[in-house]
Amino acid sequence: MTPTLRLNLEKIRENTRNIARRCVKSGIHLAGVTKGLCGSPEAAFAMVEGGCGSLCDSRARNIRRLKDAGVAVPLYLLRIPMLSELEEVLDLADGTLISMIETLEHLEFLCGQHRREFQILLMVDLGDLREGIWPDEVERFAEALLRCRWVHCVGVGANFGCFGGVLPTPQNMACLVAVKRKLESLFSSPLQFTSGGGTSSLQLLEEGAMPPEVNHLRVGEAILLGCDVTRNRCIPWLHRDAVRFEAEIIELRRKPSVPIGTIGADAFGNTPVFRDRGLRLRAILAAGRQDVTPEGLLPIQEGAHILGASSDHLLLDVEEMIPVPKLGDVLSFEMSYGAMLAASTSPYVSKRFE
Ligand SMILES: *Cc1c(COP(=O)(O)O)cnc(C)c1O
Repeated sequence: MTPTLRLNLEKIRENTRNIARRCVKSGIHLAGVTKGLCGSPEAAFAMVEGGCGSLCDSRARNIRRLKDAGVAVPLYLLRIPMLSELEEVLDLADGTLISMIETLEHLEFLCGQHRREFQILLMVDLGDLREGIWPDEVERFAEALLRCRWVHCVGVGANFGCFGGVLPTPQNMACLVAVKRKLESLFSSPLQFTSGGGTSSLQLLEEGAMPPEVNHLRVGEAILLGCDVTRNRCIPWLHRDAVRFEAEIIELRRKPSVPIGTIGADAFGNTPVFRDRGLRLRAILAAGRQDVTPEGLLPIQEGAHILGASSDHLLLDVEEMIPVPKLGDVLSFEMSYGAMLAASTSPYVSKRFE
């Protein structure tokens, strides 16, 4: 069996439903983020059935997959677009995030040519230092937006925990709300959405600390993995095993826990360190760094521990597994977002649904 990403669509649906329920209570539109699974249409349908009112993906190519599969909700490009892909994005998506005036102007020009209306969500940088205008650029951006006839600004949005690891708080959310109010006064018309981030913002909802003006969230990790990496927590009311990684045992042998000989560097230039635990039962799985990020895997079966990995081999200590595993057995792992991304995009990993 090739390494496999096993997706439990029912659990993805349930995770979405549980998040959507909390969002609805606070008047929040839930946008599902599909980039973690390369815009998988199956996962997308589960998100829509679970209550996502729209879907977002960072790649035009993934949005094309969603559109071709007949996903019925509005589709948004999540990464601010390249100038060179605007024409394609216009053809595929209902809207995009944006942060550059030049991109806006080029988009407006193309929309005019095609006589096509298009939505943008203006990204504001609240300190995480990835994309977004600086709050004091609002006037200049508003002027550019007022010159647009085909492009409509539907709201403002912010990111947290993407580059700087900045956490969402009532204070920085208030800053986003202030930018939105400023824009509304410059436009003399209300904006539909204040998009307060992704998974890491769910905790504010749970604590009742979300400012009432925030009415849109773009959630991926919590739906697919039930975790919040930015806050380093598992979300107790969500499934953590909706997406699992699986690989097959190709060698099973008792070996010393410390290598024999003079230690240089491993295949990736790191000098490994070992603790002598005597002879241990070790399994080699047919998966490696070409398939997944081993550091982001957590064995589901009790008694299995990851020792390391090279390009094509994943090494586990299975001394304490009960029952003792056999050659050809398949072991399963919960995954981090990074590991899921790596597995999703590896041509060696197949996706299976249950
Ligand atoms: C990936 C991404 C999200 C989703 O974040 P999660 O932590 O997976 O919920 C939201 N917004 C933007 C701009 C993103 O790039």
